[in-house]
Amino acid sequence: MERELNFVGNSPLLYLIATPIGNLSEFSPRAIEIIGEADYVACEDTRNSASLLSHYGLKKPTISCHEHNEEEAATQIISLLKEGKKVVYMSDAGYPGISDPGERLVKRATKEGIKVSVVSGPSAFIAALVISGLPTSHFHFEGFLPVKENEKVARLNYLAKNEDTLIFYEAPHRITKTLITMAATLGDRQATLTRELTKAHEEVIRGSLAELALLNEDTLKGEMVIVVEGNKAKTEIDDQTIAFALKDQLEYGRKGKEAVLAVSEALQVKKNRVYEIYLKTFGKGN
Ligand code: SAM
Repeated sequence: MERELNFVGNSPLLYLIATPIGNLSEFSPRAIEIIGEADYVACEDTRNSASLLSHYGLKKPTISCHEHNEEEAATQIISLLKEGKKVVYMSDAGYPGISDPGERLVKRATKEGIKVSVVSGPSAFIAALVISGLPTSHFHFEGFLPVKENEKVARLNYLAKNEDTLIFYEAPHRITKTLITMAATLGDRQATLTRELTKAHEEVIRGSLAELALLNEDTLKGEMVIVVEGNKAKTEIDDQTIAFALKDQLEYGRKGKEAVLAVSEALQVKKNRVYEIYLKTFGKGN
């Protein structure tokens, strides 16, 4: 194992740069400074990034690195970094590697001993989550669901048990169909549809999945994120948990029947079931 601080020493460092998800003003001064010092800007779409850079008066040689050429582009980027050139990578919007290319580039870079740093900025899923009004302390970011209906249903069925807030990206032409499939598989939970975040037509629509599915799809244009509340159904309390609770009560000094009653009340489990577990685990004598 080797250790070296990212900004100390001369070994090569790849910067990942987060870019605006709509409003061009959301590009940090630090991003502009670091791009200004770079020899090359590697990017998902060279034309798209060129227009962002020209907005800030930056002109740099670009290297195309997208979903279909990431491995070859990574080889080129890594050899430039090893030659001592400064290279940054950005995707079209938000963070590289978040439903965007970047993950394979980082994996290759770290394998080759190249340090990786990040210039922070917006990401659509975090923006959507924090304005959703749904719990933010635990969440699951899913990104895009599979397009094929059977695969989409299978994935949603898997996610249905998850108690964390769920976050999905979806394209506008699939939004209604996906919301219907979500309501059918997850149940009619509360959800928030956020659209065109940071742009002039930003919209936040809160309702149940079925209500959102009934919206006129013609009014749902642009880029969107769906945030769905997690599974609220109480999970069944298993026998082992009841046995542990009984042991706790007995150790605390409660006698058999008293312990059974306390556990039954605390865990909201029928007395008979707790008593059976008590007999099975501790025998009649206790
Ligand atoms: N890398 C990006 C990030 O960090 O958020 C995500 C890129 S992914 C290819 C694009 C998807 O992100 C869109 O289809 C949409 O679901 C979501 N998205 C991007 N910009 C958005 C915006 N301004 N408002 C709402 N959703 C947005």
